[in-house]
Amino acid sequence: MSINPSKMLSVKVQAMEESATIRMAQKSRDLASKGVSVISLSLGEPDFDTPEFIKEAAHQALKKGNTKYTPVPGTLDLRKAICDKFKTENNLHFEPSQIVVSNGAKQSIANICMATLDEGDEAIVLAPYWVSYVEIVKFSGGIPVVVSAGIEDDFKVKASHIKEAITSKTKLLIFSSPCNPTGSVYTYDELAEIAEVVAENGNILVVSDEIYEYINFTGKHASIGAFDSMRTLTATVNGFSKGFSMTGWRLGYMGGPQWLADACNKVQGQITSGAASFSQEAAAVALRSERTEAMAMRENFLRRRDLVISKLKEIPGFKVNQPQGAFYLFPDVSYYFGTSNGNVTIHNADDFAEAMLTEAHVGTVSGSAFGNDQCIRLSYAAADEDLIEAVSRIKNCVANFKKNIS
Ligand code: PMP
Ligand code: GLU
Repeated sequence: MSINPSKMLSVKVQAMEESATIRMAQKSRDLASKGVSVISLSLGEPDFDTPEFIKEAAHQALKKGNTKYTPVPGTLDLRKAICDKFKTENNLHFEPSQIVVSNGAKQSIANICMATLDEGDEAIVLAPYWVSYVEIVKFSGGIPVVVSAGIEDDFKVKASHIKEAITSKTKLLIFSSPCNPTGSVYTYDELAEIAEVVAENGNILVVSDEIYEYINFTGKHASIGAFDSMRTLTATVNGFSKGFSMTGWRLGYMGGPQWLADACNKVQGQITSGAASFSQEAAAVALRSERTEAMAMRENFLRRRDLVISKLKEIPGFKVNQPQGAFYLFPDVSYYFGTSNGNVTIHNADDFAEAMLTEAHVGTVSGSAFGNDQCIRLSYAAADEDLIEAVSRIKNCVANFKKNIS
């Protein structure tokens, strides 16, 4: 006798989609391990090393024996550094007790959803959205209500459309700006319009994911939580993965109303406890430093954005906008739906991303994972020569796809 997994596994976990970003990155690695020269633009991860002074701080922390449990919501020192950062960079005012440090911003979002959503509660998710929002909401018992914007609107949802989606069951509004997967940045005025809709309702908590804060080409990041009407209605999520190139250190955080911080603290205390002690010590050093490395990375990303956009525009049928942040491009590739190269047929964005991997050996992610089935996501956090080669492979590959669909 052996266990029947479909009887053993919870309905919730069986309904959960695997993270498409992680799946495509693994598929690229698998292909590469077979000796194929794959260029993976699938995983959203800065290609720069963590700045040396941050690594050195962790090294020192380890050497002096900072290797024990920390308080569940993070060390007081790190939470103080986060409060200072929020105050000076975001005009957000928190006490350390309102901050919860987690094992990545992903956990911060999961904590918030688990702490707030009951079965049947609705969370409005602005699309294109980051893959995990919808699955975290569902896993927490909530119902994701997706409100979308297309490339013609620079993938930014209008406040009036958010208003139409609000019901008596709406508890959360979740979005990222700068946005993963589109790179779009909501302007101050656009955020003000969203704030007005949310504040008018008064019963909705905004989960503002600002993890790409430093990779913003507009010159100024705006936090929705800093609007007076939003101060008690916003959980601001951020982390070290992108801005400080610390993906493997697993550190994110949220600042929000005291009741929410207490609840996240309780959830985290039963599930994972505090994040890694030496990561936290180094992160406090990172936050108290100048943003020299972050700004250098941003300049690099901006240059690469322009490089890749100029190359993508040469591909017939690709529709490309000009995102103002993060390190992703989200071209509309629907022109190729209904085409075949004689070997594979492309019906949709999933097929397109799959074909680029198997036929051109370039890893991307289908837009369907982000709530848009016309586009694919490319991360341009890669070396220039890889980016140039990847786009040239895609261009050569799609040239062989002709309309034929049955
Ligand atoms: N939010 C967004 C929008 C992201 O792109 C990521 C990247 N993984 C995360 C949250 C989570 O980041 P982490 O858990 O590495 O802090
Ligand atoms: N945020 C990154 C991405 O979107 C990392 C992968 C993940 O955590 O999903 O690719």
